[in-house]
Parts: sequence; C-alpha cells; structure tokens
Amino acid sequence: MTLEIYRKKRDFKKTPEPKGNKIKFKKHLFVIQKHAASHLHYDFRLELHDVLLSWAIPKGPCLDPAVKRLAIHVEDHPVDYGSFEGIIPQGEYGGGTVMLWDKGFWKPLDADPEEAYHKGHLRFELFAEKLKGRWDLVRFKEEKQWFLIKYSDEFAKKLTEYDITVQQPDSVQTGQSLDEIAKNYHSSWTKKGLSKSSSKKKVIKAVSPEKLLNYLLIY
Ligand code: MN
Repeated sequence: MTLEIYRKKRDFKKTPEPKGNKIKFKKHLFVIQKHAASHLHYDFRLELHDVLLSWAIPKGPCLDPAVKRLAIHVEDHPVDYGSFEGIIPQGEYGGGTVMLWDKGFWKPLDADPEEAYHKGHLRFELFAEKLKGRWDLVRFKEEKQWFLIKYSDEFAKKLTEYDITVQQPDSVQTGQSLDEIAKNYHSSWTKKGLSKSSSKKKVIKAVSPEKLLNYLLIY
C-alpha cells in the first residue's frame, strides 16, 4: 500500500486534491465519492493502514444482494482525500466534479483484513449515512476486477423497489447535486497553487479538508 502512483498521476500545483498527509484514525474511515469524470462513477474507499483502498464502481452501490456491482480496483488514495469535494481541473487526471456521496466508518469482519484484501475477499460492515450493514468485496477475475455485493440483512432492499443512487443522489456533506457543486464550488486554488487570499464573493465555499476531517473524526 503506497501513494506513489496516486502522486505520480497528479500535478499538485494544478489540482486542489490533497497531496496526502499522515492522519491516524481510531476507526476505519469509509467514503464514497461520486465522480463526474469522463464517465460518471462512484469511488468506494476503505481506510486501511494509512491509505484509502479504492475501487471505482461505474454503476454505484446497490442494496440488492442479488445484484453484483463491478468495482474496478484503482490506486490507493491518501486518507485526507476522503474529505475532498470540489472540482478537479479539466485536463488533469480525473478532471471533473467530485461529490462526497457517503461517509462514515467500516468494520472489517475478517480477523486480518490486510490478508483478506490480498486474498481478494473482504467482508465488512458499513456505518455510514447512506450505506449500512454487511457487504462483501470479492475479486473475480484478475487484480483489477472485483464485485461489490450487499449481504442479505435488514438493510438490504430489492433494486426494483429502491435504487439508492437515484433516491439519494446528492452530497452527504453539503446536500448539493453535482451541478450545484460545479456551480458553487469556490476554490482558493489558482494556477500558481494554493492562494491564501480570501474571496468575498457570495459563493458557497468548499469546506476545507481540515474542517471536514475534524467533522469526520467526531462523527
Ligand atoms: Mn474517480
């Protein structure tokens, strides 16, 4: 688990995404970021050993145990990435709008979650604002192709009756839609990097990663 690939793909002078600072959590952070890049997808992230293990789910999570959702394993992300909501500039890696779609904690159900992850089957429970209960992430082909599957429990729902991505499309942090984030996001980032000057424009300012992280910690 390393952030080498994550950092290599990004020019931190051009993107407001976090570079990755060491942050210790007592609980395991869990977030989903809805990401309107070239193709809309949901970035599913589980914190383990100082990084966010990450999967891109094109269709998003599904509460129906009969439905397997393809989850493409992507590079580890820094833990402070879990607080990011805003805009990645066009032309940069993953350029587009990022929404914090769900956040909370996950509890590994394997005695050794790192070993389970390497073996390609993670069992866990989610304690987030949208996703709850037992879930499985299972590798099915090669390294990159996994499935996210809801385990049958009290939080399971049939897809024909309830599609969580349709019923709950907005940010868990700011209540905004993707369009609203794109319209209202005010970044203090400029082409030269992070500028300290504060703008007095009447726009909803993106919550700073530090502030949001504090919120996540007391959640
Ligand atoms: Mn993404």
